[in-house]
Amino acid sequence: MLMSAVSVRPEDIRKLADEKGYVIVAHNYQIPELQEIADYLGDSLQLARMVTKIDAKKILFLGVDFMAEVMKVLNPEKKIIVPVRHSTCPMANSLSVEDVIKFKEKYNAPFVVYVNSRTEVKAYADIVCTSANAVDIVKAIDSDTVLFGPDKNLASYVAEKTGKNIIPIPGETGYCYVHNYVKEDQLKQLINFHPDAEIMAHPEVPKGIRDLAHFVGSTSQMEKYPATTNAKKLIVVTEVGMIAKLQKLYPDKIFIPVPSMVCYNMKKNNLKNTYVALLEEKIEVHVDEEIAKKARKAIERMLEITESKDAKVMKSA
Ligand code: SF4
Repeated sequence: MLMSAVSVRPEDIRKLADEKGYVIVAHNYQIPELQEIADYLGDSLQLARMVTKIDAKKILFLGVDFMAEVMKVLNPEKKIIVPVRHSTCPMANSLSVEDVIKFKEKYNAPFVVYVNSRTEVKAYADIVCTSANAVDIVKAIDSDTVLFGPDKNLASYVAEKTGKNIIPIPGETGYCYVHNYVKEDQLKQLINFHPDAEIMAHPEVPKGIRDLAHFVGSTSQMEKYPATTNAKKLIVVTEVGMIAKLQKLYPDKIFIPVPSMVCYNMKKNNLKNTYVALLEEKIEVHVDEEIAKKARKAIERMLEITESKDAKVMKSA
């Protein structure tokens, strides 16, 4: 029977992954049905750290392409497959190697690259960061002027928190469409509707939105914040996929999404193409070894700085 005529259940994927010896690693923004079957679920830093520690030789990764490439860069000996080849990140693609060379020549300053970037751009960076550790990484750099890209909003958040001269590269065109286009009016409407709710926002949102939030942090930091507040309701200003995970972690609280915040690139993975990926094992992630070597150094520098921090990997139930 043709796959298009068959409906795939999450347990079918789980069974096939177990039979074929695959570990399923998924980003927090995946659809809830895929989050359910993941062995490991987390944000970029959690997953990057986790893959270096597991024995499995084969990984099915559910996220976007730059994240899958980080897995491969850190685990060149592992087979990493994905459901679709073109699940990519427009923000990562907004910064080119040519941009980096141009800005480095102009400012002669260290370059910190957000993990949401192309692998060849990471190869030109002094160090990688994630939204969870960007402030700590920039503080740890021995320079008052730092080039930071590609996200201009995260760059402005880091400038605020560190007091350093942060030069966003490529500049105005570097942003995540999911987080950048949240409007203050839209959020204020939600606040009016839920006056008793607190607001958690991702640092990829613009400053006006951050200023309305009770808490600003990465998705891994958002996982911890509800435990620290008495608020029963929280408005979650990041990709809607995060709601399922938070609801599972805190069943007695209510999490309210911003409905427009959907990453269509993350949502390209579904039950059917994930099952087919396991069945065929054809869409494998490859990274040029020379580029991988340089990118690995920049990622490992980040891991060295964050290794001492208490960032535990969440093993999904
Ligand atoms: S949510 Fe934004 S930054 Fe994340 S993958 Fe989607 S487009 Fe890229």
